[in-house]
Amino acid sequence: MSAIKSDSTSAPVLVLNQNYQPLNICDIRRAVKLVGKGKAESVGETGNYVHTVDDIFDKPDVIRLVYMVRRPLQRRKMSRDEVFTRDNNSCQYCGANPRDMTIDHVNPRCKGGEFTWTNVVSACKACNHRKAGRTPQEAGMRLRNKPFEPRPNPYSFLKFESLKKTWLPFVPWLAPEANPSSGSFETAAVAGD
Ligand SMILES: [Zn+2]
Repeated sequence: MSAIKSDSTSAPVLVLNQNYQPLNICDIRRAVKLVGKGKAESVGETGNYVHTVDDIFDKPDVIRLVYMVRRPLQRRKMSRDEVFTRDNNSCQYCGANPRDMTIDHVNPRCKGGEFTWTNVVSACKACNHRKAGRTPQEAGMRLRNKPFEPRPNPYSFLKFESLKKTWLPFVPWLAPEANPSSGSFETAAVAGD
């Protein structure tokens, strides 16, 4: 868990779109500038969200833009870890959750299978070894889920961020108690910091 200095100008501030959708994170300095220029307003309910950073400025935890920003969704970058996350860290053949998960090419590489969302799955070592250079049909193994490309994640910027309590009303699905058993990327990201 990364510590946030309460008086640091680099402390993270959650930036909301005009419609309260989380957009990104900036630092205090930029947040104060945006508010000062009338481009954003400080948001909060309890009053705890404001701390004095020095004699002049209040320190917002959350700001909301006064105008709507449109941002194209970016496709998920493919990586081993993203594949494991998509598959809930479970072997797509036997359901095991080993720490040393491997990547299996459904249509094996030796037969031209590529590293694409729809052709790779998480597999435990034993299943991967057993399947070897064969298709699931050839190996007599069944996939538990059809591999798919996950939808873009508009909140990926929150992935490695320590969430502040004051942010939770705006990202309720990331609250630790919201969905403790869920293996979703959001919960995993929060637990993993
Ligand atoms: Zn397995």
